[in-house]
Amino acid sequence: MSLRPGPVNIIGAGPTGALLAILLQRRGFGVTLYESRPDPRLHAGESGRSINLAMADRGIHALQMAGVLDRISPELVTMRGRFIHPQGAAPSLQLYGQRPNEVIYSISRHRLNQTLLQVATDQGATVKFEHRMEGADFSKGIAHIRDTRENTIEVPMHALLATDGAGSVMRRHMAEQGLIEAKEAELEHGYKELSIPAKPGGAYAMPPDALHIWPRGNFMLIALPNIDGSFTATLFLAKKGDPSFATLVSETAIDGFLSEYFPDVISLMPDRIAEFQRNPTGFLGTVYAAPWHVRGMGALIGDAAHAIVPFHGQGMNCCFEDCVEFAACVDRNSTWEEVFDQFFAHRKPNTDAIAQMAVENYLEMRERVIDPKFRLQQLLALELERRHPQQFIPRYSMVMFHHEIPYHTAEQRGAVQSQILTDLTAAATSLTEIDYAHAARAIDERLKPIAPM
Ligand SMILES: Cc1cc2nc3c(=O)[nH]c(=O)nc-3n(C[C@H](O)[C@H](O)[C@H](O)COP(=O)(O)OP(=O)(O)OC[C@H]3O[C@@H](n4cnc5c(N)ncnc54)[C@H](O)[C@@H]3O)c2cc1C
Repeated sequence: MSLRPGPVNIIGAGPTGALLAILLQRRGFGVTLYESRPDPRLHAGESGRSINLAMADRGIHALQMAGVLDRISPELVTMRGRFIHPQGAAPSLQLYGQRPNEVIYSISRHRLNQTLLQVATDQGATVKFEHRMEGADFSKGIAHIRDTRENTIEVPMHALLATDGAGSVMRRHMAEQGLIEAKEAELEHGYKELSIPAKPGGAYAMPPDALHIWPRGNFMLIALPNIDGSFTATLFLAKKGDPSFATLVSETAIDGFLSEYFPDVISLMPDRIAEFQRNPTGFLGTVYAAPWHVRGMGALIGDAAHAIVPFHGQGMNCCFEDCVEFAACVDRNSTWEEVFDQFFAHRKPNTDAIAQMAVENYLEMRERVIDPKFRLQQLLALELERRHPQQFIPRYSMVMFHHEIPYHTAEQRGAVQSQILTDLTAAATSLTEIDYAHAARAIDERLKPIAPM
């Protein structure tokens, strides 16, 4: 028996809140969203804060399930691989997968949010912009929400869904009142956004069908294409030490740093110094919380429950998967408490797994992509997938191209595969030196078939 539809309040109308509203509204619930910011459909996006996002199979699948993919598709820019710019050597493209559909997409965060909100309101959801949740009293069962005219309204704490992001007010109140355990593990590195405008006439300044990476060991620059011919670049760097955001303050220091490490791209960033000084240094971290709910009163969903670092390009993809899974729990259960319990039990092992894989991917992107041994292992992983398609799927592909493989499974199989790759390449420098008979035995022994072909 599924839950009887009724009113539902959602705090936060970011990607998670908006998609969740669509899925619940479609099931007959009457959704009211409370969002602290003004309506994003009425203004241009904020600059300097994660302008675009990588969308992969999990995100695409969720949009399909919500019936909104057709509205979003025209906004997607295809990225086929990583375009690596090593220091002092020629750049090259490393394909992400080996099938035509094994690609990821860049999308504007602002446009995505605008579209999802439009669909949610078209379906009858109410969105109260400039309404900020400020307090939650679980003993009285009341949430306090303030609108811009300083009026505080009280919302009953019944099925209150908090999709208010990594800094979730709801999560902090739950933890302060001793109802859940929560921890925010801050990364020592932060990020800064810079822009690479389109060339006169609107052409892209670099190949547009890739995610560009300038790996520099302890830091890196990346750039994702936008639909208007520009790229948004992001510098990931330590917050303290040398070099760091703390030392790069003066024009001379910033210019010297960018010229030394990124000489091939600075001519494409005419406003780099002003942007570096003007744009905020963003915070990066992982949120761990357990459980994500207080009885049937309220639950955390999306970044509010499990924000992760952005190095696998999966944060929003994971949040969208949350929404689909949450809706499935609504379909399968008859009380909110059961929905919340089941959602947490199913989802937590998977969000823990992607949190860990996202941290590991930072080292891969900023350092390992230019290591010849790592590159050989990547090529071997693709070759083994060609030879054993039902057993060996590169971990990156499991995460990015296979929504049907849970993150937890990808992490576990990825660890086994990594060991196989390390053994096979221990004494090899090219694919011709690999013992494929040994590979076949190891794969048969250690990896059960997984992929439906
Ligand atoms: C630099 C960077 C790059 C990223 N790149 C990628 C990527 O390439 N691919 C990917 O999949 N993910 C990426 N992510 C992660 C992605 O941005 C998040 O996972 C996603 O935005 C989470 O969505 P959300 O709706 O849960 O939270 P948010 O996007 O944070 O939205 C929360 C919403 O709640 C509102 N809100 C907050 N507090 C309150 C309150 N008290 N009351 C009312 N409203 C409130 C906010 O205004 C906001 O609209 C990246 C993140 C960062 C920082």
